Amino acid sequence: MADDRVGFGQDTINVDTYNAKCPSCGSTMVFDPDTQSLKCEHCGTTGEIDKNFEVVEHDIEKGFDEAQKWSPDEQVTYKCSNCGAVVVLSIDEEASICPFCKATHIAKEDAFEGIRPHMVIPFQFGRDKAVEYSKKWARGRMFAPRKFKKSIEVEEMYGIYEPCFTFDSSTFSTYNGRVGNRKTRVVGSGKNRRTETYVEYRYVNGTHTAFFDDVMIASNKNFTQEDMKKLSPFKKEYACVYEKQYLSGFMADSYQKSLTNCWDDAKKDIDSQIRTQIKNSLHCDVVDYLNVATTHQNVTFKYILIPVYSLTYRFKKKNYNVKVNGSTGKVKGKTPISALRVILAILLGLGLTALFLLFVYYFL
Ligand SMILES: [Zn+2]
Ligand SMILES: [Zn+2]
Repeated sequence: MADDRVGFGQDTINVDTYNAKCPSCGSTMVFDPDTQSLKCEHCGTTGEIDKNFEVVEHDIEKGFDEAQKWSPDEQVTYKCSNCGAVVVLSIDEEASICPFCKATHIAKEDAFEGIRPHMVIPFQFGRDKAVEYSKKWARGRMFAPRKFKKSIEVEEMYGIYEPCFTFDSSTFSTYNGRVGNRKTRVVGSGKNRRTETYVEYRYVNGTHTAFFDDVMIASNKNFTQEDMKKLSPFKKEYACVYEKQYLSGFMADSYQKSLTNCWDDAKKDIDSQIRTQIKNSLHCDVVDYLNVATTHQNVTFKYILIPVYSLTYRFKKKNYNVKVNGSTGKVKGKTPISALRVILAILLGLGLTALFLLFVYYFL
C-alpha cells in the first residue's frame, strides 16, 4: 500500500505508515477535515491522504465471513461504565470523558471484536464550523436558556463516526388487493337533487420490480435510525475506502445491532417503499387492502462510518444532545426549556394584547 502513495516533500509524510507521527516534531498527526489531510496539531505539518473511492459491495449471504477484523493494531476501545457507550479511537489516543453522558468513568476495554469499516464519509469541516452551525440553530430556539447557548463551544463538540450498514437489493414483488378512487355523482331529483362523492373499488393484481441502492440502517443506540433520518442526507459522494487516518483525532461508535437485524430493518424500509411505489402506479385514492410479497436478489452490504458532531449539555440533572451532520452542517437536537423565557414570552404576549385592546378602545 505504501507504494501507492505520492512522494511527499519535507513537510509531508507518508500517511500509511503505522501511527502517523509528525516528522518535524514527533507529535501525533490528526485528520483535518478542512484540508482532508493529516495535520500535526503542534507544528502544522501536513500529510496528504490518497483517497480511494472504489466501492466494493459485499455479499450478504457470506455476512461477516470474509470481512476483515478491525485490528487492535490500529484502534483502541473505551467503554463508559455510566451509560454503556463503547467508543473506538485511533490507537495512540485516549478517552478521559464519555462524549455521550460526560461521565469520567470511561476505561480501556479488551480489543474490539468487530469487523473493520469498509467505507467512511470523512468529516467535511472542523469542530469550529460545527459550533458555528449549532449556534445558528440554537439562536432559533426561543425558549432555550442562555446558559445552553453559551455552552456551545469547541471543547464540548465531539466528532464521532457513527456506524451504519448500507444494503443494495434487486426486488421482485407480486401483489393483489382492492383499491378505490373517489368519484362524484348526482343523486335525487327536484329539491333533493345533489352531488355526492363515493368510492369506486376495483380488484388489482400484478408484479413490481425495483432496485434499491444504499438503504442506510443505523446500528447504535447513541445514533438511532430516527437520528439518521433527522440528519439525512449524508453526502454519499464523499464516501471512500476506510483508512485509519480518518479516525485520527476523532472517535467512532461501534455497531451494536447485528448485520442480520439491520438487514431485517432494511427490508421493512424497502417494503414500505415498494408499497408506496405500487400504490402510486395504481393511481388510487383509497386502499382497502394490498398484499405484497417480495423476494430479494443479489443483496449486498457495506459497513460505513458516517460523520456526526455531537454535543451533550447537562441541565438540571438531565442530558440534552445536539447532533450536526458532519457532511452537510444540518443540525438536530433537543435543548432544555427555560421557564423564565416561557413566562417572559407569555407576559410579552399578554402585554401586546392589552396594548392592542387599548388601541382599539381609544382610536376605533
Ligand atoms: Zn509537528
Ligand atoms: Zn457515558
